[in-house]
Amino acid sequence: MAGKVYLVGAGPGDPELLTLKALRVLKTADVVLHDELVGAEILSLVPPTAQVHNVGKRCGRKSATQAEINALLINYGLLDLQVVRLKGGDPLIFGRGGEEIEALRNANLDVEVIPGVTAALGAAAAAQIPLTHRRLSSSLILITNHHSSAASTTDWPASISPTATVVVYMPGYAYAATARQLVAAGLKASMPCAIISQATPPEEKVYLTTIEELRSAPRLPPPTLLVVGEVVRLAEHASLHEQLSTHSTIEEFLPFVAQSESVAQSQGNTENSERPE
Ligand code: SAH
Repeated sequence: MAGKVYLVGAGPGDPELLTLKALRVLKTADVVLHDELVGAEILSLVPPTAQVHNVGKRCGRKSATQAEINALLINYGLLDLQVVRLKGGDPLIFGRGGEEIEALRNANLDVEVIPGVTAALGAAAAAQIPLTHRRLSSSLILITNHHSSAASTTDWPASISPTATVVVYMPGYAYAATARQLVAAGLKASMPCAIISQATPPEEKVYLTTIEELRSAPRLPPPTLLVVGEVVRLAEHASLHEQLSTHSTIEEFLPFVAQSESVAQSQGNTENSERPE
């Protein structure tokens, strides 16, 4: 009898951000295939009797190809086993979950998807950045700087609204090129940005800058996310105090707060307590 394959989101890092459903499925897993982004604390929840395979890539060590991962999932799935494919964040956001579902369906295997907190949500929460805001941001764009060889490398939106928040997954360190793409899409060079590194575990760090200054941002440890938009002005994080204190004057950052009010006014949005954000 064939088993079932669960595509499970592990969230952005903090084990407490696992869903109860993900935890239940992990605790009864026979086989777990996980990505590099899944940390040791979450893997320690897997029973010692389960087979655990790291199919991710680290320090130049070759990762399994997508075809190899699909084959492993299908072979285990054809046995009467509970198979868990565990991915960082949400399994269907920039995680090739769609390709795995397709392969499993073609092999007539049962699939269940268990969503996870995607990195954009975990990172924004850690930095207290509201990704949407009644006065500052009415849409959210999730985009990646990294593409499979099959995809174009120039598929950024031709135009990005100044009232959108943009979250760039896999931003890499080619910040000058990313800044050029954001400006080419119509954003002002003064638009605030935050680089959020290793969101949710204790190592997380937030760095504030603008599109213009992005090129001189430090290379924070991976994984990192880049958040761009007026809402970044509202960020708050312990690591920011360090950044602001090393800045020549703290007043340089005060306009952030003042400007967020003037942006709100210039958009002419009226308060309406009955409307959701
Ligand atoms: N499926 C995942 C994304 C996989 S792509 C999700 O839904 O979150 C991998 C990228 O996600 C990384 O390069 C980084 O940009 C981002 N990412 C994942 N975990 C992160 C974390 N804890 N902190 C910051 N960025 C993270």
